[in-house]
Amino acid sequence: MDIQLDHQFLIHTLQQLIRINSVNPSLDPHAPGEAKIGSFLAQTIKNMNLKPKIHHLEPGRVNVTTVIKGTGGGRSLMINGHMDTVGIYNMKEPFSGTISEGKIFGRGSIDMKAGIAAALTLVKALVEHKIKLKGDLIIAFVADEEYASIGTEHLVKVYQTDAAIVTEPTGLDICLAHKGFGLFEFSTTGKAAHGSLPEKGIDANMHMGMIMTELNRLSHKLQSTSPHPLLGRPSLHIPVIKGGTEPFTYAENCKMKMEIRTLPRDTLEKTLSELNAIIKKLSARIDNFNAAVKPIMWRDPYEIDKTNKIVTKLFDSVKGVTGHTPSYIGHPWWEDSSLLGKAGMDTVIIGPKGGGLHAKKEWVDIRSVIDLTGILYKTTLNYCNLLP
Ligand SMILES: [Zn+2]
Repeated sequence: MDIQLDHQFLIHTLQQLIRINSVNPSLDPHAPGEAKIGSFLAQTIKNMNLKPKIHHLEPGRVNVTTVIKGTGGGRSLMINGHMDTVGIYNMKEPFSGTISEGKIFGRGSIDMKAGIAAALTLVKALVEHKIKLKGDLIIAFVADEEYASIGTEHLVKVYQTDAAIVTEPTGLDICLAHKGFGLFEFSTTGKAAHGSLPEKGIDANMHMGMIMTELNRLSHKLQSTSPHPLLGRPSLHIPVIKGGTEPFTYAENCKMKMEIRTLPRDTLEKTLSELNAIIKKLSARIDNFNAAVKPIMWRDPYEIDKTNKIVTKLFDSVKGVTGHTPSYIGHPWWEDSSLLGKAGMDTVIIGPKGGGLHAKKEWVDIRSVIDLTGILYKTTLNYCNLLP
């Protein structure tokens, strides 16, 4: 890489992005969403003589994209970053963007406005140095990753590229996989009766307890499966349970939510059939056992092979820019990469170093943001100029 990336623009833009509140309104009803940060990003893109597109999803919720058309004969690439952040809880100065000891502070600094600023700086370099790519480059800033991903869900209906890079934080390592998750609701139905009349009452809570015992067994089984090399083992827990109405009365209804964190081999169909098998087994064994289970939410896990071209190009770029050999890692939480991957794009995750994600003091390491920009620049050049 012989051209100079504009580090001053990078750091200044990141500070400006942190200073715009873009807390997700699905997490905090008083929060503004992405409209304001979206217009700032659209204007920044316009200032580079490129055409931004604002996609209106819901009131106050937008995606912002720009397409840098290739000359043809190359591979297309998307760089994807979410504009929304989680809430600000008891943060002292959530929107300061203060710089101290090589770090920038503020909500969204690492998760993931640094990734957005890096993508903008890469585009600025392409435009200013009139660098032509063979394949198209799509820059996509999306809404709502921290809640229901309406942004990337809409995005994949509009754009399709050969590969995608999501710039979520990874400490400049290469994230190849993440877990999925599912939320299920179990319900048991009994019969209300006076607490002194066992021949009349059917205890829905007790029946839920039977299900819990089986889920505990399943949980132990999951813990003894062979671990995924990057993600470990699947897990489940019971975050919410509500049953019965008052003391001295048999509980007529009980509802329980169960969350499961899954591995790339897991599917909704497989998981649901395992849960239904528990109910079937208990129904055969217990009189008047009346239970059901339904999925409330399901997000697929994600994995990409390290021999994939986008991964090898990224790996070479990290080594070239930082001099270090990156590790391959997995994330235990879910990310938008799952939606991009499902839409057919080879997706990989790389982002800067820092800390305090979703916590009181969030920060990003400036050196790593500068390196990330160089890495994205090099990867874009090398990938978009590959033959399809
Ligand atoms: Zn994030």
